[in-house]
Amino acid sequence: MGNFTIAIHGGAGTILKEDMTPALEQAYTDGIQQALNVSYAVLEQGGSAVNAIKAALVILEDNVLFNAGRGSVFTKKGVQEMDAAIMDGSNLSAGAVAGVRSVRNPIELATEVMRNSNHVFLSGKGANDFAIKQGVKLEPDEYFYSQFRYDQWKAIRDSDSYSLDHTNHHLEELMRDKKFGTVGAVACDQNGNLAAATSTGGMTNKKYGRIGDSPVIGAGTYANNKTCAISSTGHGEMFIRAVAAYDVSCLMEYKGLSLEEAMNVVVKEKLVAMKGEGGMIGVDAQGNAALVFNSAGMYRGVKNDRGENMVAIYS
Ligand code: ASP
Repeated sequence: MGNFTIAIHGGAGTILKEDMTPALEQAYTDGIQQALNVSYAVLEQGGSAVNAIKAALVILEDNVLFNAGRGSVFTKKGVQEMDAAIMDGSNLSAGAVAGVRSVRNPIELATEVMRNSNHVFLSGKGANDFAIKQGVKLEPDEYFYSQFRYDQWKAIRDSDSYSLDHTNHHLEELMRDKKFGTVGAVACDQNGNLAAATSTGGMTNKKYGRIGDSPVIGAGTYANNKTCAISSTGHGEMFIRAVAAYDVSCLMEYKGLSLEEAMNVVVKEKLVAMKGEGGMIGVDAQGNAALVFNSAGMYRGVKNDRGENMVAIYS
C-alpha cells in the first residue's frame, strides 16, 4: 500500500484578508475542510483517486460560496453556463462538458462522459441531452440563484467594457473582482493511481459561449500516472495558451523535474510572463502534493496518510 493524498482548491485571485470577514473566512475554510474529509475517507477505505476527487467536487459544487455548480456566476444573458472535466491518470481516460445549464453537478456529467460515452468533450445542448439520457440530476433556475452573484453581475452587466474582447486593463479589473471561485481536486490513491477534476461557472458576464481552461484537457485539468495530476484556476485564456497542466507533466516527463519544480516553472515563470494570474494544485504518484499560485491568494487544502491536514487562503 502506497502513500495517499488529496489536494483541493476553491479558486485563486486577489483574495485579501482586508476584504474578508472572519465569518466568511471560516465558511470558506469549513467548505474546503469538509471536501477534504469526505474525499480522504474514500482514499482511506481503499477507494480510487477518481472516486475521491469526484466526491470532493460534488461537495464544492453544492456549496454556494464557490463558483461551480450551485454558486456559478451569471453570464451576460443572466444564466449559468458551467464547465467541468475529470481525468483518470491510470488509463488517460477523460470526460469534459462545457456550457451546460441546469445540471446540479457538472462533475457527475463529465464522469458520465468519461465512463459511458465514446467521447471526451461534449458542449451546450448536446451535453444537456446526454445529461437527461444518463439520468444526471437537474435543477430549476432558482437553485442556481444567489444574491451575491446576482449583485456581482448587476454591477457589470450593462458595461461591455468588462468582456474579454476589450482591453487588458478592464479585463484585469473584472478578474480582480471575480476572484476565480472555480473548484478542483487532485488525488493519489493507495495504488499510486492519479486523477484530476475541475469545475467552474467560468467568468462573470461571459458571452458568446465563452469556455475557459477548466474543461480543456491539458490546460485546466490533466492526469497521468507517469507524472502528475493537475487542476488549475485563474485567468483561463492564459492557461489555455500555456497548455498549463500538460506543461507541468511534460517538464516532469522530459526534463526530470520534480512536481513542485515543474509547477513553479509554469505558474511563477511562464504564466507570470503572460500575465496569467492564478494557480494550480498537483500530486505525483508518490503522494507528494504541491499548491502553487502567483496571485494574492488561493483557497486550498491538502490531507494525506502521513498526518498532514492543511487548509489555507492567503499566501
Ligand atoms: N479558470 C476559470 C476560467 O477561466 C476561472 C477560474 O479559475 O475561476 O473559466
